[in-house]
Amino acid sequence: MQQNLINIAYLLASVLFILGIKGLTSPRTAVRGNLLGAMGMLVAVVATLLDQHIVRFELILTGIVVGSLIGAVLAIRTPLTSMPELVAMFNGFGGGASALVAATAVLTPEMIGDVPPIQLYTASVASAIIGAATLTGSLVAWAKLQGVLSMQPRGGFLQTLNFVCIAASIGLGVYYCYDPTALWAFWGLTAAAALYGVLFTVPVGGADMPVVIAILNSLSGLAAAATGFVFGNNVLIISGSLVGASGFILTQVMCRAMNRSLWDVLSGDMGQVAVGGPTDDEVYKGRVKSASAEEAAMILETARSVTIVPGYGMAVAQAQHAVRDLANKLKAKGVKIRYGIHPVAGRMPGHMNVLLAEADIPYDELLDMDQINPTFAQTDVVIVLGANDVVNPAARDETSSPIYGMPILDVDKAQTVMVIKRSLSPGFAGIPNRLFAADNSLMLYGDGEKVVRELIAAFDQ
Ligand code: NDP
Repeated sequence: MQQNLINIAYLLASVLFILGIKGLTSPRTAVRGNLLGAMGMLVAVVATLLDQHIVRFELILTGIVVGSLIGAVLAIRTPLTSMPELVAMFNGFGGGASALVAATAVLTPEMIGDVPPIQLYTASVASAIIGAATLTGSLVAWAKLQGVLSMQPRGGFLQTLNFVCIAASIGLGVYYCYDPTALWAFWGLTAAAALYGVLFTVPVGGADMPVVIAILNSLSGLAAAATGFVFGNNVLIISGSLVGASGFILTQVMCRAMNRSLWDVLSGDMGQVAVGGPTDDEVYKGRVKSASAEEAAMILETARSVTIVPGYGMAVAQAQHAVRDLANKLKAKGVKIRYGIHPVAGRMPGHMNVLLAEADIPYDELLDMDQINPTFAQTDVVIVLGANDVVNPAARDETSSPIYGMPILDVDKAQTVMVIKRSLSPGFAGIPNRLFAADNSLMLYGDGEKVVRELIAAFDQ
């Protein structure tokens, strides 16, 4: 009877998860989707705690208290701009937790309920391999996002080592399932997978990080699903598969956005290493023009169409509310306003959409790359606000550039381009940007929020 109730609760939780994910597919329904997902999680947690297989509640309670404390401190202390690092850590912790559960299961198989041994051992192997690779890969991704790791080793040797690690993990996994007393094989496959996690993430550079973050997200879900099989826990299998599948779809979206193949990602063959690219001086010296807010406002006064292209700098400056006010001012003068959103702008998928939605900017003004690109040639002014890599023409025509091949927003085709940023410093990919020196570009130096407010003030004069 109790087991039946638990299964019904798990079913309900799974339905809530699916509805939650469906809600998250559109900005309009995202908040409701989030709530439904959280309710599903609550139902799943309560049902699990009622499960008769729970042995020691005090251990669970200790875990909840310690975990909540760490989570709360991290969430409070993390500035909004460091969310991507936090997300990378979450993925990693998810993978690490799955690997730890798998290790516990193989060390104390007698504690696991009535799961057939072949399921227990194969699922534990899958959970350990995927979980360990996710943990170490996410730690490297975190270090790269944080800027504490910049190395980008490449080459055939690294790829060969990748394949050796994968082959070793799978080979040892098969052997361990054949002989579950051979714990050395289990530790060996976990170590090989952990090394693979490092090796496939460490070469990532340029602007390819989003693809890797998406795939790590997917892997953390798959690891959780495998852990569900270890215990025969349906809700973990379903929720893990949902994360795995949605992460996989996101990976495909990101691969398309970056013009990379999934195979490149998994084999550690990502993008190019910058060799002999132009220096800052070669690109900028004597060519960059800057303007004051008053001069820029005069140009905007005569514009009929303005497209705003936000990037990571808008997130740093928290300029989205000022952007909305500027857009309203321009709309009041009859100007057509659009926003051009690049899929990897910012530091996490959907970063710009979230910020602009927070400022109540209408969704129908937000156009993605395929929709906005054909309009630039007929646009009077483009305001590039804290974006850099996603508008860098090098991606189109410099074959040696680390971002070569990545589709960009063709803002340089507009009549006038105003670039708001603090200096000529590069973006995430670390390379100069010819756009800033183009004949039709004007630099408006300063913090994004401050410059946009100055533009608004210049209108009011
Ligand atoms: P970039 O990182 O290319 O450039 C951001 C620019 O913002 C910088 O050049 C910086 O210049 C400027 N900036 C920083 N702070 C401010 C501020 N307070 N006011 C005004 N400007 C500011 O950003 P993009 O959005 O163009 O590109 C995103 C990059 O991040 C891509 O390379 C992408 O691959 C990568 N990435 C994306 C992820 C995702 O999921 N979206 C995840 C991981 C990486 P200055 O210092 O001169 O002000």
